[in-house]
Amino acid sequence: MYDIIIAGAGPAGASAALFTAKAGKKTLVLDSDQSMTRKAWVKNHYGAKEISGPDLVETGLEQMKKFDAVHQSGKVTKVEDAGDHVQVITEDGEYQASYVLLATGTIADAAEASGIQTKEGSEPRIKKVVDIQEDGRTSMNRVWAAGTCADKSVHTIVTAGHGAEVAINILSDMNGERYVDHDVLK
Ligand SMILES: Cc1cc2nc3c(=O)[nH]c(=O)nc-3n(C[C@H](O)[C@H](O)[C@H](O)COP(=O)(O)OP(=O)(O)OC[C@H]3O[C@@H](n4cnc5c(N)ncnc54)[C@H](O)[C@@H]3O)c2cc1C
Repeated sequence: MYDIIIAGAGPAGASAALFTAKAGKKTLVLDSDQSMTRKAWVKNHYGAKEISGPDLVETGLEQMKKFDAVHQSGKVTKVEDAGDHVQVITEDGEYQASYVLLATGTIADAAEASGIQTKEGSEPRIKKVVDIQEDGRTSMNRVWAAGTCADKSVHTIVTAGHGAEVAINILSDMNGERYVDHDVLK
């Protein structure tokens, strides 16, 4: 069983996985390779000079894998509350995790199929999003959401930031105390 399964390896999902894996949590990232970010040329991502969307996505994958996050191709079709864990159903098999993070970009199908509360998107061209609480929790126990699919502004710095913020909220919930991840310049 994984500590956390993340659906989506775009800026929101990979940024979250970087935090959870670096915190020593057993992290699986399932991705259906439909990231809109792969079409972008990004000049407005603080701290990163001009970068292509594909390079930004690949760098994110490298960063999370450095801390042993597992990246696997796969499409999550449904998640089910199984009491002390979440059952994650994909097109090719099933997994179990203590927590799930939905970071599925413009696609809210898996949330809808799982009976998780959704609502109309407030960002341009984003039809349906997952209805979250301030900290990222969805209407299903142990299932959280981040990034574009959580109605955040459709910009890489915002979705990556929100992925990190919700990951920190999940880690704080897991550990029962507020989580901080700082490395010091030696
Ligand atoms: C043409 C274009 C240009 C852009 N230019 C800029 C720019 O200059 N600056 C900027 O800040 N932003 C730009 N953006 C927006 C940027 O790409 C998004 O804001 C943002 O990064 C989205 O991040 P995300 O992680 O929420 O979603 P995504 O990057 O879309 O990632 C979501 C991931 O979830 C996966 N997924 C979806 N459903 C499932 C499922 N059921 N199971 C498993 N995986 C699933 C998808 O395959 C995808 O990989 C641009 C977007 C486009 C389309």
